[in-house]
Amino acid sequence: MIALDEAKRYVLESLAAPSPEVVALDDVLGGVAGEVVLARELVPGFANSSMDGFALRALDTASGSATLRVIGAVYAGDGGSSHVGPGEAARIMTGAPLPDGADCVCMKEEANVEPSGETVRVARTIRAGEFVRFPGEDVAIGQVLVAAGDELSPAKVAVLAGQGFASVRAYRRPRVGVISTGNELARSLGPLQSGQIRDLNRPLLLALVKESGCLPVDLGIVHDDYASIAQRLKDGVDDCDAVVSTGGVSVGDLDHVKAVIAELGGDSARSLQVAIKPGKPFAFGVVGARRVPVFGLPGNPVSTRVSFELFVRPALRFLAGHRELERPTANMVLDSALPRESDGKLHLIHVVARLHSDGLIHVERAIRQGSHLLSAIAEANALAMVPEGADLSSGDTVRAMILDASQLCATST
Ligand code: AMP
Ligand code: MG
Repeated sequence: MIALDEAKRYVLESLAAPSPEVVALDDVLGGVAGEVVLARELVPGFANSSMDGFALRALDTASGSATLRVIGAVYAGDGGSSHVGPGEAARIMTGAPLPDGADCVCMKEEANVEPSGETVRVARTIRAGEFVRFPGEDVAIGQVLVAAGDELSPAKVAVLAGQGFASVRAYRRPRVGVISTGNELARSLGPLQSGQIRDLNRPLLLALVKESGCLPVDLGIVHDDYASIAQRLKDGVDDCDAVVSTGGVSVGDLDHVKAVIAELGGDSARSLQVAIKPGKPFAFGVVGARRVPVFGLPGNPVSTRVSFELFVRPALRFLAGHRELERPTANMVLDSALPRESDGKLHLIHVVARLHSDGLIHVERAIRQGSHLLSAIAEANALAMVPEGADLSSGDTVRAMILDASQLCATST
């Protein structure tokens, strides 16, 4: 058996670094920038009003009040040719350019317009610059808008669009092929034949791939036949940036996947026994000139999930250009004991974790163990990591990987 960290390191060190490409802003949300982007336009581009009111000269109000002649109105979108002289004011709307000569705005709520509309009375001193948005206040030319490696959030996309950019150099979302292997897997949704089971791993992995921000590619189900598996994996490698298969990596008579990965991956291929439970058998190799990673995960669905989290997701994030590859982990308080037997492995236990009123995250309960019990783990939102030798009682702390942060505040059922 090899340690989890060593197996993970082997995977990550085998990967080829991705290169950024030009990606339309429409497609880039959640992606990662591959270049630093500097501002080329001032934002705002011109002095404008942040209020509906009157543009005027601050000096005119220095005595504490003023009555000013209203000379016209400026609207958002106007070209900015108006002028305000001493003793004058112009009606101004939010976003309209400040007229030449004016240096402040008195908000409408503080201005008393005479019934004729010809003069306005301002009853206090207005400071120069009041309610004016100045050029470059938001963005100065040359300012770093996005750094290489930044994840592109909605606000970052908008900031780039605000500079008139239609695209940015970013990392393409990896296309990830998903294959299930096994003679027992039903091909249709009709009634199951004797000995058949439904394919849980393909929908599970397609969803996990999507959740990790990549593009899932359904490569279907393949029989436990060496040549068929080899052909399907090769097709996947040609079409995708990574391929994940399940089943056939253990020691059964028909477990061909690990041998196929060994053939396709050559020197890069490893068939590992990782010191974790579940998820011990794991085959991996990089295939072809593009060094496409191929992951052979065990067939039991809970093992598939755990192996995906530990090996596949960090690798996919690397290929997608992310700097932070790992899920967040936190120390959590155990509300009940988490016993384990001694077998030399790190145990990964699906748990229900909730933020309590004491400000701490509690592990309220562990999910029934069994690597085939997928429905049982469906309500888990964290993966407790219990090392060999740990003897955890209620009240002790356990380190856990947060799988779904949005569920930390859910009401427990
Ligand atoms: P294997 O790793 O191929 O030996 O499979 C281990 C266990 O997982 C067996 O009980 C399989 O029937 C089951 N299994 C394999 N693939 C799937 C799948 N796609 N969906 C659900 N169960 C599976
Ligand atoms: Mg099998």
